[in-house]
Formats: sequence, C-alpha cells, structure tokens
Amino acid sequence: MKKLILLLVFIPLISFSQGFLPKSNGQFISHKYFSLSYSEKHEQAEWVHYKLSFPMINGSTKRKDNFRKDSKVKTGSALNSDYYKSGFDRGHLAPAGDMKLNSTMMSESFYMSNISPQRASFNRGGWKKLEDLVRSWGSYKTLYVTVAGVLNDNNLINIGSNNVTVPSRFYKIIFDPNQNKVIAFVMPNTKISGELSDYVVTVDVIENITGIDFLSELEDTIEDRIESEIDIYGWNFNQKGINKNYKKYSNYDIASSEQNKVKTLKKSESNIVIRCTAITLKGAQCKRNASSGSTFCWQHKK
Ligand SMILES: [Zn+2]
Repeated sequence: MKKLILLLVFIPLISFSQGFLPKSNGQFISHKYFSLSYSEKHEQAEWVHYKLSFPMINGSTKRKDNFRKDSKVKTGSALNSDYYKSGFDRGHLAPAGDMKLNSTMMSESFYMSNISPQRASFNRGGWKKLEDLVRSWGSYKTLYVTVAGVLNDNNLINIGSNNVTVPSRFYKIIFDPNQNKVIAFVMPNTKISGELSDYVVTVDVIENITGIDFLSELEDTIEDRIESEIDIYGWNFNQKGINKNYKKYSNYDIASSEQNKVKTLKKSESNIVIRCTAITLKGAQCKRNASSGSTFCWQHKK
C-alpha cells in the first residue's frame, strides 16, 4: 500500500509531451524535455522544440554550465572545442532560463545540439530580451516554442574543426495551443536596434527562408490562417518579469484574461514594417526596411 502511495506521489503533474512538432529534414532527436532536428551539414539543430510552462520558468534549479556533445546525434554533434576562441558565444536555442524545473532539464539544455554560434552583442542583447519576453508570456499560459538559426542562407561562415555554421539570423515561433495563436520573430545575429515588435514576421516567411513545415498538426484551415497573419495585438509586449500570482488560478492557461488587462501594443497590422535582417560587411544590421513579405530589403533580397 505504501508503495502505491509513493507511486501516486511521483506521477508527474506536468506533461512534457511534445506536440505540434515541425517536420524534420535532419535527424530527429527526442530528449526528455525538448526535441530537435539535427542538421549534420551545419552541426547544429535546424529546430529545437519544447513545451514551455510556468513550473519550468519558476523552478529553483540554478544554471550550471555543462556544455557537452550530444551522444544521440549519430553522426557526432558539434563539440565545445569548436567554439573555443571562435569569437562567438555558445548561444542556447532552448534557453537555460526556461529549463529550471530540475537538474536533468537544466543539464539537457547544455547539449551542443541545443547550441548555435551567436555574436555576444546578440546573445546578451536582443536575443536575451526576446527570451525574457517569451518567459513572461509563458508564465501565464502553456506555449510551444520552436527556435533555431536560419541555416539555408548563402555565404555563411563556419567555425571549429567540425565546421559549425554561423547563422546570420535566428527565428523563434511561439504557439499558444489553447487559443490557436502564433507569433514569430526573425532577428539578425548582431546588436539589434529598435523594438522586439519590429522583428515580428509571419510563420509563412520563416517557412520560406528555412524550408521547414511548422504546425502541420493543425487543421489546414487554421494552419493556413495563423501562418499567414501577424497577430501582434494578442501578445503583450510591455510585460515585464514573470507572473508570480499564477497559483491564484486553478488552471493558469486561462489566466490570459488577466494578462489582457495590461495595455497591449498599439500597432495596426498594415503599419507593420520590419527592418532588413541582413548584416552589412561592417557587422551591423542593414538600416533599410524589409520588402513586403520578406525579411530583406530590396538590395539584400536574393
Ligand atoms: Zn538590407
């Protein structure tokens, strides 16, 4: 009887089932707390996908740097040494700050298959800002996050003896399964200027530049609609920090009404103009606006 009670206590209260997986063009790998598709050519993931929920953000597990190869990669993953003296940060795709529930979760986030070369000014600047914003959203509701560098671009440089590709831009897709809402970002791998909302794009744009099919589990009509529109109203860009009061709600997934009371970004859809995500020879982001339906300006569009 005692054993049975013990068993019941350890039945996990949170599910980490990884629904809404993108289609994979590489080796599909499932870890306990996230999945990925590994591109051998680029020695990194073409996508990392995980379910983000409040306990993962609010956990007490401290970050412990434990960068190491991912033995599940059949062809051999990138190594810590590939990044040594490369001038690039070992940028997390699924952030360590989203993996605080327990030490296994934290440790998994340090597999080199979850790492991509990022400029320090990006990793510790705009990219971190975006990670903080997504955590603030994830403290109100369960979200699915898909993230990686854009690996299909031309003329990308590489680092280390394994020739790890250095992406010149990164994408992140955040899907709210309860409301069938999605928001997506593409940001250049450099110091960014302007607001995070300047980097919002449709999922269709990311599918075009990556060649990956996202959210294909959804019913086609829903998938087509949410991948082609920008729903900037549904996401609070002014939110700071995480929602510590979530326990007031029996199901924090429905707490978004509370969130909606906060002033949301006022931006009409027709006014959305994004910055070109190309990086100039000087290493700065191009100052022109992107052409409609693209993440590049007229000059950088190939
Ligand atoms: Zn440009």
